[in-house]
Amino acid sequence: MQEALQCDVLVIGGGPAGSTAATLLARKGWQVLQLEKDSHPRFHIGESLLPCNLPILEQLGVLDEIEAIGVRKLGADFPATEGRYQTFHFARALGQSPDHAFQVKREEFDRILFENARANGVDARERTCVTSVSIDGPGSVQARAREASGTELSIKARYLVDASGRDTVLGRQFRLKRKNAVHQSAAIFAHFESVERRDGEDAGNISIYHFEQGWCWFIPLRDGLMSIGCVCWPEFLKQRKGSNEAFLMQTLQRMPEAWSRMQAARIRGEVRVTGNYSYTCSRMCGPGWIMAGDAWAFVDPVFSSGVYLAMHSGTAAAALVDACLRDGASEKRLQRAYDRRIRRGVRVFSWFIYRFNSPVMRGLFANPRNHWRVEEGLVSMLAGDVFDNAPVMRRMRLFKLIYAVTSLLSWARWRSERVARRRQARIEFSGGSTPVDPA
Ligand SMILES: Cc1cc2nc3c(=O)[nH]c(=O)nc-3n(C[C@H](O)[C@H](O)[C@H](O)COP(=O)(O)OP(=O)(O)OC[C@H]3O[C@@H](n4cnc5c(N)ncnc54)[C@H](O)[C@@H]3O)c2cc1C
Repeated sequence: MQEALQCDVLVIGGGPAGSTAATLLARKGWQVLQLEKDSHPRFHIGESLLPCNLPILEQLGVLDEIEAIGVRKLGADFPATEGRYQTFHFARALGQSPDHAFQVKREEFDRILFENARANGVDARERTCVTSVSIDGPGSVQARAREASGTELSIKARYLVDASGRDTVLGRQFRLKRKNAVHQSAAIFAHFESVERRDGEDAGNISIYHFEQGWCWFIPLRDGLMSIGCVCWPEFLKQRKGSNEAFLMQTLQRMPEAWSRMQAARIRGEVRVTGNYSYTCSRMCGPGWIMAGDAWAFVDPVFSSGVYLAMHSGTAAAALVDACLRDGASEKRLQRAYDRRIRRGVRVFSWFIYRFNSPVMRGLFANPRNHWRVEEGLVSMLAGDVFDNAPVMRRMRLFKLIYAVTSLLSWARWRSERVARRRQARIEFSGGSTPVDPA
């Protein structure tokens, strides 16, 4: 059986990017068809939100619903010295970003956003997988999709938003997807019960710990659950023998401070693994199409930026599509600006991600200094304020300078220690260090 459908905008994907773009476009009066291959609620990783998510949730009209399902997150903590931890509280950010965010179960979060799209007039369909797309420019998008029942859909649209996440439908079909050349990572994760939470106002923090081959997250969720995952080099994950559960536990034991919070912990549900997921597509838009969220790129979850970047790009993509449908002549200019903006935001996070496990970066996160308000700028980055805030960007440049100088000093110290050790070894080898009795 085949069904023919026509719409102004086809949105592929019912995750945060897709539901944001679809809702905002429907509000502008466009006929929007949104297709999701799974059905909500469905598990998804990516449970820690950033403060900068909140204005978007408010704009969508779902902030109260998200607050009702979320754990209030006031900061992010990183290991400090002697078993202590250092919390970066969002209230200390430079600028106007909200002083908190939420930790959410994504099956609940994504369902709320998807239902909200429907309530705003989107024809949002689940269990409908887009199987192919052909685009001959604005006004001429054709797609095929298959429902779970087997019914084939043939779709004509004026514009296409690809928000298909890591499946990146266009990235694959147009062969735009590239492995990240400088960063690779994979993850193993699960939900646990009976994991110790932080005290007081830190109870909703995301906690980050390091181990030699990577890092791990603790994200407190509702109902006494803690999401715990280890992010590591793909090669480290590939060497696992035995069960995923045993491997996850052994990996967590490499971080004594994390492990000490897990003395009574039990896994609830499945242990899941994702292979190397760091990639970028060489383009994020073209005539009649645009990508939002992970469909274009994903680097690493360490700063919990994925959902925010997805919703931010979903918002920007909706504005672009709305403008292009009204005035096709503006498409090239708007797409260039969209491309620049999204790349700039991702670049800010990537710079930190690529250096995150280096001793110098660990040291700077363990002992932050607020000279020239650099620490407050760092908190703003952790809150997601990476697009428009010039004072924050200035602090980021200063932070990079501090990082470079500290690296240089550490290198110089490391080198002079090495030279001193060698000199000492030479003296000992030649017997020079021990006074020789001439008799
Ligand atoms: C290990 C790990 C931990 C993470 N932790 C965090 C975190 O703590 N905080 C955070 O903000 N981010 C985190 N992320 C990132 C986060 O998961 C993503 O960035 C975010 O979900 C992107 O949203 P999206 O809407 O672009 O894509 P998705 O949320 O992936 O949504 C895409 C949707 O498209 C659907 N789809 C795919 N193909 C098709 C098709 N052909 N037809 C129809 N539908 C289709 C999918 O089923 C899916 O529902 C993490 C990622 C990883 C890998």
